[in-house]
Amino acid sequence: MDGKLRVDSLLDAQLQFRPMNTVSLEKQRAEKQPMTKQAGAGADIRLEFRNVTRRFQAGRKAEGVTAIEGVSLTVRDGEVVSLIGPSGCGKSTLLNLTAGLDRPTVGEVFVDGQPVTGPNAHVAFMLQKDLLLPWRTIRENVEFGLEIRKVPAAERKSTALAMLKACHLEGFPDHYPHQLSGGMRQRAALARTMATDPTVVLMDEPFSALDAQTKMILQKDLAQTLSAMRKTCLFITHDLAEAVALSDRVLVMSHRPGKIIEEIVIDIPGRDNPLVRRESPMMTGYLHRLGELLDLAHAKV
Ligand code: ADP
Ligand code: MG
Repeated sequence: MDGKLRVDSLLDAQLQFRPMNTVSLEKQRAEKQPMTKQAGAGADIRLEFRNVTRRFQAGRKAEGVTAIEGVSLTVRDGEVVSLIGPSGCGKSTLLNLTAGLDRPTVGEVFVDGQPVTGPNAHVAFMLQKDLLLPWRTIRENVEFGLEIRKVPAAERKSTALAMLKACHLEGFPDHYPHQLSGGMRQRAALARTMATDPTVVLMDEPFSALDAQTKMILQKDLAQTLSAMRKTCLFITHDLAEAVALSDRVLVMSHRPGKIIEEIVIDIPGRDNPLVRRESPMMTGYLHRLGELLDLAHAKV
């Protein structure tokens, strides 16, 4: 899909979100159950794909494209799951289906046990492009989703300031996006994504445009924020080390039509500190295995 088109449709989608009740975020968080990783299928599943295929029809002469085929997956409460696969294998399609911006041709997608039928307040996303509105200050940008949900002004402001603090931007609420560096803008985008306290956070290569050092700092910030807020996250990346450093599990997709060909549980301790995880002696083994699965040695560009 054309990048600009998708960004516009994501912004439109935010405007269509159903208002959420305005129970304070702290209360909502306190009510969430502790993570039960060992639990079987059931109540703690936040996101589920059941045998999902998405086929795009083409024009009269061109052939259609099957982006993903027969994808089944679950993401449990508080889990961070990365999705990796060759370019064009349907990763973004999978994200769009979760966000309710697109519908499966076959199969169903569920968030918190409810079928996804359109954009909704329970799913938030963060992309490589920060989607910050240039005419709004950073705080006003973070408040955007809360405004749509009709959260009162005072609560909006305090939530936005708390999220900016959590994302290490407490000194910049009144700056405009163009006054910040790329890394700071992605932090602001993260604060905005988290401000609405979504059930599932979707990330589509959020750090791929950043330099290596900024990227590592942001990975650490993200990992800590996800742990502190106990968020469930589906993270798309083409950076294998990023996938291993940030995730509880990595799902590997095949070439188009994308299918899930392997699930790798990441057993390195300390998911909230990817910098430490990167230093683990186990890291190389995971990278080697993922490289093999993606057949990097034989891949053509
Ligand atoms: P990835 O994110 O893994 O690179 P995408 O999900 O963007 O892959 O795309 C998977 C395939 O589906 C590609 O061949 C792409 O061209 C096609 N595709 C994606 N969105 C559309 C669309 N709206 N219309 C037609 N084809 C699409
Ligand atoms: Mg993509």
